[in-house]
Amino acid sequence: MRSFARIKVRGIPLWGWMAAAALYVVAAGLAVDIAWQRSIDSIAEVGSHRLDLYAAALRSELGRYETVPGIVARQDSVRALLRTQPDAARAALLPIVNHYLEAVNGDTGGVAVDVIDLHGEVIAASNWNQPLSFIGTNVSYRPYFQDALARGSGRFFGIGTNTGMPGLYFASAVLDAGKPIGAVAVKVSVDALESAWRSPGEAAMVVDGNGVIVISTVPAWKFTALTPITPDRQRQIEASKQYAGRAVPLLPHRRLDDWDASARFARYPDWTRPGHDTRYLELSRPAPQAGDSIRVLLDVEPAMRQQRTAFAFVTALFMIAGLYTLYAIQRRRAIAEKLKGQDALRRANDRLEATVEARTAELTAANVGMQREIAERARTEQELVHAGKLAVLGQMAAGLTHELNQPLGAIRTLSDNARAFIERGQQPLAIANLERISKLVDGMAVLTSELKTFARKSDVERVAVSLDDAVAHALLIYEARMRTDEVQVDVRIPAGTMVCAEPSQLQQVLVNLLGNALDAVASEPQRHISIEAQPAEQPGRVLFSIADSGAGIAPDVLAHLFEPFVTTKPRGRGLGLGLAITSRLVLGFGARISASNRPDGGAQFTIEFMSMTETGVVDG
Ligand code: ADP
Repeated sequence: MRSFARIKVRGIPLWGWMAAAALYVVAAGLAVDIAWQRSIDSIAEVGSHRLDLYAAALRSELGRYETVPGIVARQDSVRALLRTQPDAARAALLPIVNHYLEAVNGDTGGVAVDVIDLHGEVIAASNWNQPLSFIGTNVSYRPYFQDALARGSGRFFGIGTNTGMPGLYFASAVLDAGKPIGAVAVKVSVDALESAWRSPGEAAMVVDGNGVIVISTVPAWKFTALTPITPDRQRQIEASKQYAGRAVPLLPHRRLDDWDASARFARYPDWTRPGHDTRYLELSRPAPQAGDSIRVLLDVEPAMRQQRTAFAFVTALFMIAGLYTLYAIQRRRAIAEKLKGQDALRRANDRLEATVEARTAELTAANVGMQREIAERARTEQELVHAGKLAVLGQMAAGLTHELNQPLGAIRTLSDNARAFIERGQQPLAIANLERISKLVDGMAVLTSELKTFARKSDVERVAVSLDDAVAHALLIYEARMRTDEVQVDVRIPAGTMVCAEPSQLQQVLVNLLGNALDAVASEPQRHISIEAQPAEQPGRVLFSIADSGAGIAPDVLAHLFEPFVTTKPRGRGLGLGLAITSRLVLGFGARISASNRPDGGAQFTIEFMSMTETGVVDG
């Protein structure tokens, strides 16, 4: 079983893949996290600036009205009006104050300016001459009135009970000798405040102390609560008629995790896509002039886009790195494979060289052994031939005695006669006898020289001899005879046939055989000799034959053909040593000789030579 650590996929161990995957997960996570942090930070920063802008706009807008009730409260006509009882004197003052309030309201651009007596009844108002005039309305339940009497000033977000218009109320106490005698209230339209915010897409809102959105760039969210209203609060709201008896629904939203002290994530209904809610970064800042806080909701989509970009970037980076790694591994593997191939080739080469060397050494050794064996054999053969020669010596003795005794007897008789002729003075006859003796001695000398050749140990060096050259030479010797006898000789020896022999001995062999063949055809009407050579069946051997159209070999001669002194020729023509010597010489060549009578008449002598090249190596 393979161990886990050894498992490889595309040349990379499994743990490598796992490490790369882990690294990828960590890197991608880190990149996504960093991208998120950075972009949320920058969104928060931008949001914070926007929040500053909204707050500043709100402050400046409110600031325009804030001081108005205090200034109006110090007006003598207003104080005088509040000091008088509702009688004729008041009736005289009232138009003056009403006109004054109307003028102030016109200057500041608010909704209304009212003067309220200690009972909370509006006794003079800027809109005195309008159908929805506040005069006669009791606002004692409004916290701004109560706060103004109690603390000198009051501020309040509410919806007008008469107009039904949402607005911000500022109030100041009217003092007489340090004691409140009434109050002046200024109502500013929320619309006027909102118009100061040019919202570019994000939701900005002002949330009052009840957790109710009173100003919002999203109209539908106005007068919805961000926190559930407690029963206590509910009672207060009802008592102050803050929202003019309107139901204040809860704005469905969900707080998520905090980002920092002033920012957190929250899900709000998406005002651009009804029915959806979206995660926003919510920034808030206390806005004391306008209730509780001012908030802005920022889209986090750009941050998510950044995250996706970072993720894609890291993924692309890893893919490139991964592909490059795979490519590098593939390349390294290919190089290693190539090197391994080269190595294997080199090793195979080395092995081949070693094998060739070993085989060469073996062959050399075998060759040396063979040469030695050949030399050994040749020596043994020569020994055998020599021993054979000695063995036949005894056999020769009888023949020799016969051959020599005859001339010796003749010489005795001739010499005896010669002496008698000399004694008788018959000189010429004596000389004739001596000449005949001399001839007989010559004949005996021939016999003994032939015998010497026969008995000589044929310690010869065998070489490659050209068979056709040797035959041509032998034919040259008999040329004159062949011409006078009109003998037809056919020679069929492939050019370059080399045989193992001793050149002069081979010459002698051929001359012997050719001489016998010429003798055999001499008295025949058809005189024809055929000399052939061809490769023998046994490899490395050459079959040489010389056939004639003579009478053939006499059957009783055939059995002893190669023995010495076997002859059918007349005395003086043949010694019967030719074939005996021939056979010894042939044996000395490492060849074999045989004789037969051909079916169509005539004798045939065949020699099976060892074939040889000129370099001396035996073929086959
Ligand atoms: P020699 O020629 O002196 O007789 P050889 O040994 O050469 O001695 O031959 C012995 C005998 O073999 C011959 O006398 C002859 O009878 C026989 N002989 C040799 N060659 C032939 C031949 N070609 N045809 C017939 N008989 C042959």
